[in-house]
Amino acid sequence: MGSAAVVVDDLRKRYGDKVAVDGISLRVEEGEIFGILGPNGAGKTTTVECVAGLRIGDEGSVRVHGLDPWTDRPALTRILGIQLQESRLQAKITVREALELWTALYDDPVAWPDLAERLGLTELLPQRYAKLSGGQQQRLSIALALVGRPRVVVLDELSTGLDPRARRDVWQLVRDVRAAGTTVLLVTHAMEEAQQLCDRIAIVDRGRIRALDTPTGLVDAAGPATTTTFRPSAPTDLEALRELPGVVSVHADDGRVVVTGADDTVLRLLPVLERQHVVPQSLRVEAGSLDTAYLDLTADPIEETV
Ligand code: ATP
Repeated sequence: MGSAAVVVDDLRKRYGDKVAVDGISLRVEEGEIFGILGPNGAGKTTTVECVAGLRIGDEGSVRVHGLDPWTDRPALTRILGIQLQESRLQAKITVREALELWTALYDDPVAWPDLAERLGLTELLPQRYAKLSGGQQQRLSIALALVGRPRVVVLDELSTGLDPRARRDVWQLVRDVRAAGTTVLLVTHAMEEAQQLCDRIAIVDRGRIRALDTPTGLVDAAGPATTTTFRPSAPTDLEALRELPGVVSVHADDGRVVVTGADDTVLRLLPVLERQHVVPQSLRVEAGSLDTAYLDLTADPIEETV
């Protein structure tokens, strides 16, 4: 095992009666891109705010390269960068001033003009913070999180509000930052982002980790490996399909038949359909997805309110 960048041990945090974090433990290895994925209110932001020393847990411990984020805050600030969901910059500060100010805080900052260029901020350098669009503010907050060449960076909802091109650019930036040695702790709602970027993902719901694995591991654990969909050319005996080995579920949906099951399900389906004189039109076979894992592991918000 490599050396740990972040170790969270049985972290607990309440706000009054509300339990926000209910015993979270995790270990992020140095150089890893580690994702925290979960629904609204799951406790993700509270957890990373404890890692960044912005909040203190009621119980448990957090270490970032051996530092206690709460008591060793000055030392932590030199090695940890954070991009928050809502930036707290003054309305009148310009993009250039913010970048220069942040640069001055660190011993070994990166060259901010390069970072500004990669984040599409060069044209916006004279612009005041309050005049930036949401996506532009977001890009500036990512730049400020990275300008100090942090050993660990916390990115909370990295790509919220970014257009598709900016999102791709930011993903590539995160990969490059990691390649240069930074450990990345990424909070996200976006399944695709987690799948594309993360080495490992913790799925968090109601203050607890429900699963922690690689994206592939989570998908595999979610059960059916493939979903096969087709439009039958003639009425189909669905019972015959349900009886096939490896098939988990079969249902008809708006003129389509949807079959979930093992990897080779489609090979078993075809002979049965042939015997029934059914041609599977618009046949599609898709791999199981992180969506399935996520939905399996997190509560239905409607059920939760009952
Ligand atoms: P989201 O995806 O919506 O950002 P999250 O997973 O980051 O959610 P948190 O922001 O950590 O969740 O919130 C966890 C729970 O704690 C929520 O129920 C939230 O309402 C509550 N909470 C968060 N901050 C506070 C606060 N300052 N005072 C009271 N309750 C809070």
